[in-house]
Amino acid sequence: MRPAREGEAVSLDPAIQKYATAAVPRYTSYPTAPHFTSGFPSATYREWLGRVDRDRPVSLYLHLPFCRQVCWYCGCNMRLVARYEPVSAYVETLLREIDLAADALPGRLEVSHLHWGGGTPTVLEPDDLERVMTDLRERFRFAPDAELAIESDPRTLSDAMVERIGALGFTRASFGVQEFDPTVQRAINRIQPPELVARVIDRLRAAGVRGINVDLIYGLPHQTVDTLTRTLQTCLESRPDRVALFGYAHVPWVAKRQERIPEDALPGPEARAAQAASAEAFLVEAGYEPVGLDHFARPEDPLAVAAREGRLHRNFQGYTTDGAATLLGFGATAIGRTPFGYVQNEPSVATWTREVAQGRLPVAKGHALTADDALRGHVIERIMCDGAVDLDEAGRRHGREPGWCADALPELEALQADGLLTLEDGRLRLSERGRPLVRVAAAAFDTYLSRARARHSVAV
Ligand code: SF4
Repeated sequence: MRPAREGEAVSLDPAIQKYATAAVPRYTSYPTAPHFTSGFPSATYREWLGRVDRDRPVSLYLHLPFCRQVCWYCGCNMRLVARYEPVSAYVETLLREIDLAADALPGRLEVSHLHWGGGTPTVLEPDDLERVMTDLRERFRFAPDAELAIESDPRTLSDAMVERIGALGFTRASFGVQEFDPTVQRAINRIQPPELVARVIDRLRAAGVRGINVDLIYGLPHQTVDTLTRTLQTCLESRPDRVALFGYAHVPWVAKRQERIPEDALPGPEARAAQAASAEAFLVEAGYEPVGLDHFARPEDPLAVAAREGRLHRNFQGYTTDGAATLLGFGATAIGRTPFGYVQNEPSVATWTREVAQGRLPVAKGHALTADDALRGHVIERIMCDGAVDLDEAGRRHGREPGWCADALPELEALQADGLLTLEDGRLRLSERGRPLVRVAAAAFDTYLSRARARHSVAV
């Protein structure tokens, strides 16, 4: 479709509407984190780390769960901090945790990707960011072309931090813009004028950070196709390299702070889908290439190149060029992955701190991958990344006969009957119309998904 003009009503494909409210996971892993087992033994993770291939690069994720202000829509594990002492203490534990994991690995491994997330990682003092990065460079070998990314809050990013981010060689910074309309910003408690965001992006580029990512959200209270279109127009003046467009997931029974969101001002399913469709059309018309489900990138950006070449991957940060089989997660709540399974750290900072102080890898939950998980995880990742997968070939590579996924067929055939995908010669391919429903197609292969599906956000 073309982008909507101001005030114009957007009509939606009835087939998309039919599935738009399906509650399905975002599939940043398979199985998804709610299916990890509590009380997973830390010793198992230590043993997995010892078996990681020393000749293959790993990626690193560091989680800083602190913010200076709270946004009502936020579903992250974060704590509001006014003083620096808790952050400073957290850094000490983070350094100790890095040592624990590095000691368990079979050598000083190469790093291809690093990502700081949160919370707000730029709550750190520049010297503390440098301490952690220096420690990581001692314990790991960073590839010369390693991607170093950091999430940032334009409202609190200091000039000193911008300079340090540049000096430490960060290659990418991402910002939560969400929406520029003042009424929406007040309703979500995130007031940040466009000029502030533009200035911060300029300063980061001047400091040497090449890649700029901007996150936007649709489905927010008081948001309309028109407010989102105006936000996109303003946002693109800074020429971000990537734009992520997420649907707001209203789950106040999980994220209590969302009770402050005025529910009667939330757009309904059709309005949400219209916002998503119009924003996508706007971005495509502006020259961005759709990447997977909810990302857009300039054609020359590595993410767009990877998507065109079938090298796109999906991890806990969303779509990525990172194909490392091992992701080491550090910090409270951080999730890690090895070829043998997933682990998630203790979500409570106090428990995470106590575990690390006692010399234990602070694992709270985990999941050892079965052969069936590995096959289904591969199929789900390719559907989420490429919108297509050769089911017979995938099965063969995992030692299974054609027809291994008979359990998925009833849902896939229903989608096929609605013209949203094709199933031919063992190949699944979403049609252009069906592309917004990749999560629904992926969910057909998910044997863990409960019938109630109550925990997940809607598909569009
Ligand atoms: S959205 Fe980001 S800045 Fe806002 S409270 Fe959540 S983690 Fe903090």
